[in-house]
Formats: sequence, C-alpha cells, structure tokens
Amino acid sequence: MRIFVAAAVIALAGCPAVQPPQPTTPGPVSPEPVPPEPPVPPEPLSITWARVETTHDLPPAPPPDGTWRIHMIDVGTGLAILVQGADFALLFDAGSNDPGEKPLRVVAYLSAALGPSGDEQCTTSGAPTGTRRTIDHVILSHPHLDHASALDLVLHCYDVRHVWDAGAVNDAVFYRDFLTAVSEEPGVTYHTAAPPPDDRTIHVKGFGVTMPPAVGWQMFSEGDEMALGAAARFTLLHAEGKRHADPNRNSIVVAVDLGGVRLLLTGDAESGARADPSAALGDVEAHVVSQFPALVDADILQVGHHGSKTSSRRAFLDAVSPRLALISAGPRRYKGTRLPDAEVLAALAAVGATVLRTDERDETCRGCDSWLVTIAPAP
Ligand SMILES: [Zn+2]
Ligand SMILES: [Zn+2]
Repeated sequence: MRIFVAAAVIALAGCPAVQPPQPTTPGPVSPEPVPPEPPVPPEPLSITWARVETTHDLPPAPPPDGTWRIHMIDVGTGLAILVQGADFALLFDAGSNDPGEKPLRVVAYLSAALGPSGDEQCTTSGAPTGTRRTIDHVILSHPHLDHASALDLVLHCYDVRHVWDAGAVNDAVFYRDFLTAVSEEPGVTYHTAAPPPDDRTIHVKGFGVTMPPAVGWQMFSEGDEMALGAAARFTLLHAEGKRHADPNRNSIVVAVDLGGVRLLLTGDAESGARADPSAALGDVEAHVVSQFPALVDADILQVGHHGSKTSSRRAFLDAVSPRLALISAGPRRYKGTRLPDAEVLAALAAVGATVLRTDERDETCRGCDSWLVTIAPAP
C-alpha cells in the first residue's frame, strides 16, 4: 500500500478531569456522605494523517468503534470533506469549479471509502453496484458551484437521511439540480435556516422545485446539536437563511466532536474583504468567535474560503488554535487570485498548525492530493 507515505502523530492530552463536588459540612442528622465515583478519564487519542494518491490507498474496511476518519477529497478548485465513524458518514460539500472535473471522481472516492452504491451512473465502469448505502448527513455549506456541483449525483447514488442547507437561494442551475435531487430523495429530512414556504416550493432559474410530503422539512438554528453516533456529534455555529449578494456569507459553520477531538468546518466563511490576517475580525468569523468561543477552539480546521485572505484573520486563528489545518484549493483562480494566499499560510504557521493541501501537485497530477486524517486511540 502506498497510503502511509507521510504520517505524523499528535498525542492529545485527555481533557482535564472534572472535579467531584465538594461535600458540604454535615448537619447534625446528615448521614455519612458517600464519596462520588471518580470520573473515568477519556481515552487519549492520536491524530495521524496520510496522503491518498488514488482510491486504492484507502483502508478497505470502515473504521472500528472509537476511531474516526476525516477525508479531504482532492476535487481541484472546490471542497469535499467526508467524516466517517464506525456508525455514521457525514459529507460536507462536494463540488468543483474546474471545467474538466467530473463529479464521478467524488463518487468514486466515496465508493472506495464507504462502499459502492447506486446504479450505472455511480460507477466508472457503468455497471450498477447492486446495492445502496447510506450517508447520514450531507451539508451544503453555501450555494456556490465549487461546493455543490457533485451533490446531485451523490444524492442520486446514496440514501441520504439528512440534508443541511442555509436555504438562501442562489438563482443558478446547479442549485436547482441540487434541490431537485433532494426532492427525489425519499425519507430524507431537509434542514434549512430559512423558514419553509407554505407551498413547499423553491423557485430557481425559472422553475419551481416542490418538496413532496415524503421529504421532511425542518428549520435549524445556531446552537442546534445532532448526535452522529457513539461519542460523536456536531453543533451548528452559523445559520443564516437570508439571501446575500455573496453566498459566502451564508456559510454554515459546524463544530464536529469526534471522541473529544474537534473539527471545525467553515465552508467559505469570511471576515470581509481581502486583507492581511492582522486586520479586524468581521462577518461570519467574528460572529462565531463571539457566540461560540469554546466551540470554535478546535484541533483540526478546514481553512475558510480555500485559504483566501477574506478569511483566517489572526484573531480567528488564535481562537481556533488548530493543530492541523486543511486547505482545499485548485488550479482555477478566484477573481484573479490563485489560492491559498501566502499571508494565510504564514498566519497558520504562526499559530503552530500543520497544513495539509490538495493543490500541491496540481501541475503534474490532478486529484492525487487527497488527505486521510485518522483519529484513533493513542498507541
Ligand atoms: Zn468556495
Ligand atoms: Zn463560496
């Protein structure tokens, strides 16, 4: 196997033990106080990572109990992150802006990581897989093509239980395709920060997409928590359903807790216009730092907006203090700039983060810089 070409380990100190309550001074008739059971300290976990050059490098079996995997899939200029436990799968975005990029590359990766699923559209061979598998949660951080282009195919190929979307309409064909795929997903619950319209119809690009009764529709709010499986959960830190000129302002921000290791997913959340990281915090970054100071403090950060200077202000990085920083970027320029920005890389180094990037070898090979981060009991 070529997988573990580069691996490093960070031993995580267990969280400080909770102090037992102090016994109060006994009154004259109080029974002898029973000392509480000492708290069980959490098992120390390690974080390791390895580059995934091809899907053949992926482990053949799902992670065992107490182990979690975070896959940053190299989709070129876009983002797709798969979080996988023994008992759940969560996909945060799946899209690319690269003209030659095939959504099938994401599905081929998912097929290798989760197992093959779906019909002939879901395989590179064109042969149906004969089975359907489940992805418990699909989160669209915000309605931009580089985060959403493959999601309609993902919904077609997998049984998805929950879809999370800010609900701020981007009047674009890809977003309509995404909504249509949600409407055709039986049994799914569609979660939006915007309130569901009475007629359950969303108008995009001249057509209305109606969510049928088989699709549940619920509103979510900041601070909402979802259990993911044993010892894993996520909390929504930014929920903005109002339509903005720039959909990046709708980015859903999620803190994922995996056995006590925290992953912060930010999509394209920003502080504002492009500026040096020393500039003031603003917009979504300021909001989550002020509202959820404890939950933004994370071990692993998906660096906002592909490492652009619109994001990753120093005050934000200080609050997150990541040990590991994941940057998904590709060859296509954003408004003339190839990301990530050097100033953001320097700011990440200054807080002591190790950076993993999907664009390192874009000149020589495409799609060969995926990364697999494994959270497992320390050896
Ligand atoms: Zn983006
Ligand atoms: Zn965006």
